[in-house]
Amino acid sequence: MAGPINFPQILMGQKPPKITIDLEKCTVPFLCKKCLQICPVRVYATRPIEKRDFSIPPKERVDPTKWVILPTWADWCNGCGACVEECPKDAITIQLGDQTIAP
Ligand code: SF4
Ligand code: SF4
Repeated sequence: MAGPINFPQILMGQKPPKITIDLEKCTVPFLCKKCLQICPVRVYATRPIEKRDFSIPPKERVDPTKWVILPTWADWCNGCGACVEECPKDAITIQLGDQTIAP
């Protein structure tokens, strides 16, 4: 894996980072969240994929298997590669300029 890219390089007109999560590998993100926890710039967020029924107790509103994890703030990615290394399912690939960060 290549080393990190300095964030200022991205500001100098390069394409924004593209983070791809293979959803066939990342099947239960709500119970994992390792990428979200290790990312130093908080790129990731979890989202339910079903509408929540607010008439029932909070813990029962959404089945934990019905969530996705998204690189919501991908523009902040600095290419450190920590999430790619941490992911137990090898589900993350990042394209940053000419560099690909993959498992
Ligand atoms: S490469 Fe680093 S900065 Fe980018 S999303 Fe992964 S952990 Fe966050
Ligand atoms: S670390 Fe990998 S498996 Fe875990 S939530 Fe992130 S992308 Fe999914």
